[in-house]
Amino acid sequence: MKHYDYLIVGCGLFGSVVARELTERKKTCLVIDKRNHIGGNIYTEHINDIVVHKYGAHIFHTDNKQVWDYINSFAEFNRYTNSPLANYKGELYNLPFNMNTFYQIWGVRTPAEAISKIETQRLEACIEKPRNLEEQAIFLVGKDIYEKLIKGYTEKQWARSAIDLPAFIIQRLPVRFTFDNNYFDAKYQGIPIGGYTSIIEKMLAKADVVLNVDYFSDKVYLDSLADNIICTGEIDRYFDYCYGTLEYRSLKFETTLLKNQTNFQGNAVVNYTDSDTQYTRIIEHKHFEYGRQPDTVITKEYPVTFAEGEEPYYPINDSDNNRLYESYRQLSLQQKGVYFGGRLAEFKYYDMDRIIERALKFVLQLESK
Ligand code: FAD
Ligand code: UDP
Repeated sequence: MKHYDYLIVGCGLFGSVVARELTERKKTCLVIDKRNHIGGNIYTEHINDIVVHKYGAHIFHTDNKQVWDYINSFAEFNRYTNSPLANYKGELYNLPFNMNTFYQIWGVRTPAEAISKIETQRLEACIEKPRNLEEQAIFLVGKDIYEKLIKGYTEKQWARSAIDLPAFIIQRLPVRFTFDNNYFDAKYQGIPIGGYTSIIEKMLAKADVVLNVDYFSDKVYLDSLADNIICTGEIDRYFDYCYGTLEYRSLKFETTLLKNQTNFQGNAVVNYTDSDTQYTRIIEHKHFEYGRQPDTVITKEYPVTFAEGEEPYYPINDSDNNRLYESYRQLSLQQKGVYFGGRLAEFKYYDMDRIIERALKFVLQLESK
């Protein structure tokens, strides 16, 4: 068997950007993945000529021009702007929280009226300094929107009361006093025409790739194949859970092809924000690329408890888990020739642009060693 400069465990976006940059620098790379496809969670596949985001909606958005230029060097992006709708017991509202939402909820027509409504509800709830997600949400948009559009969705998503969740989760969403349904504030946004998988194929073009291999099933042998290891899998698993298990939320995706139905919901993303509907959202994939196919494909996304055999999707970054992760991080610094990166190895929810930023920086750091 050939000997490599690097064994990269995981060919998600982090592993693939690193493989691309290292092979461009004439390093040899073997990339393995336990799944039967490349791309990790950004993998897309074609069903009846429709690009399907197999692991949930992936919309590229960034403020970083270098990252935007980098990803555009692998694919042409369209002008897609994410504007999800919220369905609360059959009532439809625009997201993120903006003047359209405030009009739909309260009938207010001006920013001053909306601000005054929110201020009144904030005072009624006596919140000056939010201590948890519930307080943060009421502080930002008032009690009515919290109860219809946030509480049910959040508690399904995280299986915890909003009082027990950190405030920062909701700070990801913009609150705007303009009639603007753009879900992201980022300067650059779009979907790669034809999907993400061909981007990953291009990144891995000069690396050797082996799929369906779990690193831990043959670690000693796989380690012997390379001088250095780059691990993008779960950091606690790497250390055999010696300090305990990090917690995640998992998801189940239920994908259905609707033959001879051109348009199921009229929008790419509809969130279901009540607590009775089991799923959090329905994605209708063709709308990411303004598709006109005769059929459509939808995916319902169900939050589920993370257990052995389930995919770890969302790290639960509360203080206990963050402390545990820090112990593993300290241990990882003592490993010679083994490096850790990506959302599982760093136990952090990173958007794709941040992953690219970090992977590019990581390679520069390797180079300077
Ligand atoms: P991953 O994609 O998880 O790749 C890690 C790879 O390592 C996987 O393929 C895994 O199979 C493999 N692996 C793990 N352990 C082993 C092992 N032991 N042996 C072999 N292989 C192993 N970001 C955005 O910017 N915009 C969005 O709209 C967006 N939407 C998202 C929606 C959802 C539902 C989720 C979960 C994430 C979303 N993201 C989004 C984030 C995006 O998915 C991540 O930024 C990106 O996928 C992280 O890449 P990664 O390589 O770190 O991780
Ligand atoms: N959120 C919500 N209602 C929505 C959409 C989002 O309450 O309709 C909250 C929820 O707590 C979620 C957080 O905002 O976890 C971040 O939302 P985002 O869309 O960034 O992430 P995701 O839904 O993918 O977790």
